[in-house]
Amino acid sequence: MAAKRATVTCPECDLTETFDKLATARSFIESHRSETGHDPTWELHRLAPGVERAGDEAGVCGRPSCTTEDSPLYRG
Ligand SMILES: [Zn+2]
Repeated sequence: MAAKRATVTCPECDLTETFDKLATARSFIESHRSETGHDPTWELHRLAPGVERAGDEAGVCGRPSCTTEDSPLYRG
C-alpha cells in the first residue's frame, strides 16, 4: 500500500493531486503557483504540526534528559 502523505488541491482549476512525499507536494505547489498564478493548498495526511511537535518533544526514549519539560506530553 502506498501511503499518501499529502493532497494538493487548487480551487481555481479543480486540481487534486496526491503525493507520497511532502517535498514533492511542496515543489508541485511552487511550480503550479508560478506557472498559473493559482494558490493551491495542501492537506497533510498526518497529525497536525503542533501534535507532531509534541510527539517529537516527548522523545523516542522518554527519559527526562531528552524530553522537553514544558511539553504537555512530558511525564517526568
Ligand atoms: Zn490551479
